[in-house]
Amino acid sequence: GSSDGTVYEPSKVAIIGAGPVGALAALYFAKGGWQVTVYELRGDLRNPDNRSLNFTKSINLAISERGINGLRTVDPELTESILEEAIPMHGRMIHDKRGKQSSQKYDVHNRFIRSIDRGKLNERLLDELENLTNVELKFNHNLKQLSLEKGEAIFERKLSNGAYENVRVEADLFVGADGAHSQTRRQMMKYVRLNYSQEYIDSLWCEFQMPPHPVTGEFQLDPNHLHIWPRQTFMFIALPNQDKSFTCTLFMPESMFKDIVGPEALLEFFNKEFPDVVGLIGEDRLIADYLKNQKLPLISVKCNPYHYKNRCVILGDAAHAMVPFYGQGMNCGFEDVRVLWEHIANTLTISEALENYTAERHNDCIVINDLAMNNYVEMRASVTSTSYLMKKWFQEFLYNWFPFFGVRTLYSMISFSNIRYSEVVKRVKRQERVLGVFGRVVVVGGCLGAGYATWRKGWYRDGLEVLMKWREEVVRVQGMVVREVMARR
Ligand code: FAD
Repeated sequence: GSSDGTVYEPSKVAIIGAGPVGALAALYFAKGGWQVTVYELRGDLRNPDNRSLNFTKSINLAISERGINGLRTVDPELTESILEEAIPMHGRMIHDKRGKQSSQKYDVHNRFIRSIDRGKLNERLLDELENLTNVELKFNHNLKQLSLEKGEAIFERKLSNGAYENVRVEADLFVGADGAHSQTRRQMMKYVRLNYSQEYIDSLWCEFQMPPHPVTGEFQLDPNHLHIWPRQTFMFIALPNQDKSFTCTLFMPESMFKDIVGPEALLEFFNKEFPDVVGLIGEDRLIADYLKNQKLPLISVKCNPYHYKNRCVILGDAAHAMVPFYGQGMNCGFEDVRVLWEHIANTLTISEALENYTAERHNDCIVINDLAMNNYVEMRASVTSTSYLMKKWFQEFLYNWFPFFGVRTLYSMISFSNIRYSEVVKRVKRQERVLGVFGRVVVVGGCLGAGYATWRKGWYRDGLEVLMKWREEVVRVQGMVVREVMARR
């Protein structure tokens, strides 16, 4: 093994957590020739008896380029077959209070995100792992303690008779993919000066199911959109499922949930805020889901570093749980795995690989964590504001018609590229500076041109002619700026 961190060779890795990120990490290590054991707190989610155990996670989620690239890099065939079951979402469908729908495309070049069943994706990864001879899956194992200098872990194993026993495990490397409340992270804090912060936002989320149309059996809304009912301080969203239903989520401040006590108050609230939803879900189901389903919190976690020597590294939500408003949580976790593996494959020692991983990845994870937080405001409020729509239109107009400007929207670079998150934000800032200067030049040039034209023509000419001249001047100055910008590129 590589216990002294000097010469790296594939050895024994223990992966903690068999969620999407842990399962993908296991696949990378297994294909890289490591001896892999995956330890998961819960029972096997492929066993129908255990499905309800995964109640704290959304049923479906949006997967986009970074997540797909993380999968594709390790197994292109598996990726294709997983994506066959995903539903393309080309844009947001905004529902107003009168039930009017308006579509906002995500990308001028028709790129899209996909709605995918989180459980099925996880199952496919576990199936794949089970077929590999160098992987062992251990369910009902709860990580209790890590002795990182010794390379030892203690798990509490739940037996079929309900009793518990302690299991001692040895490994060269521990990979923590055990989610937002990571025990691996907590244990690592004993060994390294790990800075850590967490924040619960005020909103909770609650899920509803919108069945297929009772007569036709078809989707009740356009399946190729992510549906949003933005209402400033709260919102309702819906993502399509393969079986032609939609999984809907209500995000709302805790105090508002508390105010809605019985079925009557619930119907009154929905009829007022989301009148079209009541008919689509049906009153009975709406009430049943609301009363039955948990109102769950949303946490944002930041920490640094992500590793300890050559012994331990944390990935996915364990390292950077984020609020779900950019649809990047799992995508970012899959990208973590790809980036970690790049370092492991290209570095001589594991300690160096892990150190480089933290150094590269931390900035990127902080950036997307913050963007996700900001997007909460964008999704529930800004998408309806005129200035937001004008800015989006202007950026897309430039992206579409003046590709040499290199303008791309933030959303498109986050969701449809693999450019580092931190680089995306730098590019956007640069872009906004240039566009700001460009905009000011156009306005100032226009005013000067107008003054000039008015002076030359005298005040007696009719307004229309002055305006025409004004326009010509604007076009002329604009042309100059474009030539100037092109000359500098
Ligand atoms: P988890 O999925 O939390 O898995 C951790 C695993 O570790 C679990 O199986 C758990 O049982 C196990 N575990 C925990 N403790 C222990 C222990 N002590 N010992 C052993 N095992 C342990 N992301 C997107 O990319 N797109 C979206 O559209 C999106 N929408 C979301 C909507 C909502 C409402 C929420 C809440 C999240 C959303 N996310 C989305 C985020 C996404 O769900 C997470 O980022 C993703 O599940 C993280 O995967 P993970 O494997 O790191 O952690």
